[in-house]
Amino acid sequence: MLSTYIRTQVNKLERSLFQLHRKSRRLLPGECLICSQPVSHERDLCDACSSDLPHNTPCCDHCAEPLALQLPRNHTTHLLCSRCGKQPPAFDRVIAPWRYAAPVDQLLWGFKYQQQRTAGYLLLDLLLQALQYETLDQDALLVIPGQQQRIRERGLHAPAWLARRLALATGLNYQPNWLQRQRDLPSQQELGRKARWLNPRDAFTASPEVAGKRLLLLDDVVTTGATVHWASEVLKAQGAREVVILAVARTPT
Ligand SMILES: [Zn+2]
Ligand SMILES: [Zn+2]
Repeated sequence: MLSTYIRTQVNKLERSLFQLHRKSRRLLPGECLICSQPVSHERDLCDACSSDLPHNTPCCDHCAEPLALQLPRNHTTHLLCSRCGKQPPAFDRVIAPWRYAAPVDQLLWGFKYQQQRTAGYLLLDLLLQALQYETLDQDALLVIPGQQQRIRERGLHAPAWLARRLALATGLNYQPNWLQRQRDLPSQQELGRKARWLNPRDAFTASPEVAGKRLLLLDDVVTTGATVHWASEVLKAQGAREVVILAVARTPT
């Protein structure tokens, strides 16, 4: 079919651009996106800024909420936040390797609000680095659909941009239409705690094709966890077998 042929060609082109971006970093010295020091490797982040990356550990095993505990980095204790201990959200777990703190918050801000593609590639690299110890064998990669008005304003939907390239890098089966948004939402920032939790309710619809599937659902940042909870509810109601959330960063709730 023509549409399949075009999609294959677009994927090939995007993979070539991704590889070209990495090669160009090896040949042409870049500069650190945080402190502007020259860097001589593939990644636009100097060694000093790399060592400042805020690992999200320890965190809740279910929702990845950062926990204020003193534990050794390689601890094996099973940890749950107070909310997940009482009533865990609808997803099966959240993978969020970084905390929403400097320099990851600066990179996300530059990528989402200033359309800095170099910041996007760096975030993708950080995500891939963090995922090398995870088994990514889900049946499909989905993305939290963007709000039409914000996409018009920003010209970019950060999670979809990341998901397309993550699929190319890992071989995951990206299915952007299996989860759809049926309404835009009022800004979360103007709402109280309970209203923020309920705000994304009924915002999504899921394709019947998710039935019986193990899904990886990507968002850029998990804040309250409400968006990914209600999206997971819809996917599970359509028969999804598992919903694992993948986010670059997690904020404390
Ligand atoms: Zn730096
Ligand atoms: Zn939790």
